[in-house]
Amino acid sequence: MSFDIQKIRADFPILQQQIYKRPLIYFDNAASTQKPRQVIDAISHYYEHDNCNIHRGVHYLSVKATEAYEEARKEIRQFINAASTHEIIFTKGATESLNLVAFSFGEKYIKPGDEVITSIMEHHSNFVPWQQMCIERGATLRILGVNEHGELDLEELRLFLNEKTRLVAITHVSNVLGTVNPVKEIVAMAHLHGVPVLLDGAQGVSHLPVDVQDLDCDFYCFSGHKLYAPMGTGVMYGKEKYLEEMPPYQLGGEMIKDVYTDHTTFNELPFKFEAGTPNVEGVMGLQAAIHYLQDIGMERIAVYEERLLNYATEKLSAMEGIRFFGTSTHKASLISFLIGDIHPYDAGMIIDKMGIAVRTGHHCAMPLMDYLKIPGTVRASFAFYNTIEEIDQLVAAIVKAREMLS
Ligand code: PMP
Repeated sequence: MSFDIQKIRADFPILQQQIYKRPLIYFDNAASTQKPRQVIDAISHYYEHDNCNIHRGVHYLSVKATEAYEEARKEIRQFINAASTHEIIFTKGATESLNLVAFSFGEKYIKPGDEVITSIMEHHSNFVPWQQMCIERGATLRILGVNEHGELDLEELRLFLNEKTRLVAITHVSNVLGTVNPVKEIVAMAHLHGVPVLLDGAQGVSHLPVDVQDLDCDFYCFSGHKLYAPMGTGVMYGKEKYLEEMPPYQLGGEMIKDVYTDHTTFNELPFKFEAGTPNVEGVMGLQAAIHYLQDIGMERIAVYEERLLNYATEKLSAMEGIRFFGTSTHKASLISFLIGDIHPYDAGMIIDKMGIAVRTGHHCAMPLMDYLKIPGTVRASFAFYNTIEEIDQLVAAIVKAREMLS
């Protein structure tokens, strides 16, 4: 089946607009993706027909909304091939998912003198929670470096793993370098030492088919808004054996079984980790986004995005003075670069005036910027609604930025 890009683009109303009298070119997909009409309609449909608080009422609407919410959980289980719906915890995003694991897992399993392994390429969301949890619990955070291509060194991981290691927390795909980490090998290595592995899937799940049972990871965290779904939605997948033992992260309604004046018993999974009224509208949108992606096919999306990545890499490599950050052969569809000595912020401003949204700065990865000794990068991140012609426009905008700023 051919990839009908015009039909796909027509599904995204926001892409139809002009900015600065030019068609909008959106290359900030790693920050957040745009939403297809199907997702927007699912949210309206929910409010027009089903809106009600869930899990609490016996009346018609409450039951209907609860059923819709739990049906979405089943489909998300299927999407990442988790073994059970008990392992799918709805959150407000990857950040909340990662904090949940850091503090709940930390409370249960991390003692003074223990070690947690992470990497220098992590987003702050998968770095600061571990750093702070280790400080609180008297544990040590060990940080894997990257080579000149922006890849992890598995030999270093082998050296770091020891009897004090309690967890490895690594990103599936780097939001700065684009590197797709060899997560299956990482999981296998850690498991040899009996160490569980958390994967930050914020940038993985939107580009690659994810099968958590095949990866055998112990936790997988992601946000809906980078997956063409609404903001304020996210998932924390965790293996039931850990989730059963981990204490609740937040306390309140929904997550309890019985409350007495002097103690409380907690609800079963997944509700133990879902305190308070959830973002039902958002989950309806997340379900619609997953249907949309499944209709196109994650494999086909990966193939098309790789074409965009290869084309952009080839075009930018042919330009003088472009420095790339992240040149692994296993990359998702984003490129980070600097144009000569031009500050990324200045370049971003000129590129914006050409109607092109790119991201500039440290990309919430300050330890990596320090490691690379740069203030930030310009990042163009591609989605399956982007085109080769748009990349040609980016090349023209970079030429213009260089002319104006050199
Ligand atoms: N991890 C990675 C790799 C990311 O790229 C991001 C978002 N930029 C996050 C975590 C945090 O996601 P959110 O802000 O949606 O919680």
